[in-house]
Amino acid sequence: MSANLPWLHDAKQQFAAQRRQGTLAHAMLLPLPEADGGVLLGQFMAALALCSSLVADVPCGHCKSCQLVNAGSHPDFHLLQADGNQIKVEQVRSLCQSLTNTAQQGGFRVALILQCERMNMAAANALLKTLEEPGQATLLLLQSDRPAALLPTIVSRCQQLKIARPSPAQLNQWLRQQYPQLDEDLGWCLPIAGGALQLAQYVADGYAAELKKLKSAWQKSLASGHLHQKLSNLSAEQLFDVLKLLYQVLEDEMQSGQLEPLQQLQMAQLAARVMKDNQQLMLMANVNFLALCQSYVLEYKRLKN
Ligand SMILES: [Zn+2]
Repeated sequence: MSANLPWLHDAKQQFAAQRRQGTLAHAMLLPLPEADGGVLLGQFMAALALCSSLVADVPCGHCKSCQLVNAGSHPDFHLLQADGNQIKVEQVRSLCQSLTNTAQQGGFRVALILQCERMNMAAANALLKTLEEPGQATLLLLQSDRPAALLPTIVSRCQQLKIARPSPAQLNQWLRQQYPQLDEDLGWCLPIAGGALQLAQYVADGYAAELKKLKSAWQKSLASGHLHQKLSNLSAEQLFDVLKLLYQVLEDEMQSGQLEPLQQLQMAQLAARVMKDNQQLMLMANVNFLALCQSYVLEYKRLKN
């Protein structure tokens, strides 16, 4: 899959220009989920900052630094990601300690922190001082899947890059470049996939086509009042996506403008219940999926009559 994502173009250009002009901030926040290419963008920026060619718009690929980056062994590049669910304070302290060392290749020292919202309070506090005074020629790149979850003290110390998530039009155009045989609009899959790269993976795996069948099975189930066979034999992993699909079907109907006010209200309640069940599935042991799905169909039937 091409890593050349069109919606990252402006952010890359902006970064390259700042580097040429010597006006790079010490710390930058990349508010773009991994599923939309946030990690790829961070890796690009790190590689460009380290590249010895000071006028390049993209990493030259030939210099010693680029070779070390490509080999995954650049001594001045530090990657930090969660150990389990959290980025822990010891990890941050160790990173900050590494950044006080002199750059071994004579250029930038770069830290890329992935999913920085996973820093717990102690870890975030340990990073604050380095964010404020990172030292000469140091660049901290903070990628975030959920920028809204970040502490204001972290956000205020970073330059926030303006990065737009791909628009549905950009996404469809890009998907067609990757998969010329694709002739349908898959924008509706995006909330299920969570991001463009993940959606492209779904297309590659044939999972997008499976999702379409499952969505259609919900529409048939609700119309007939009987759970479609395709929905009667689900695996635990599928259920999350299947409930998101049901939520979409209900939402589509609410937006159709064809419901009575009371039905509209009840439909919204049912949709909220589906979403809540989806969030709580992880905590529920021994869920009877079949009974759960049947209960939605019954509830739908009741409110439509
Ligand atoms: Zn280079």
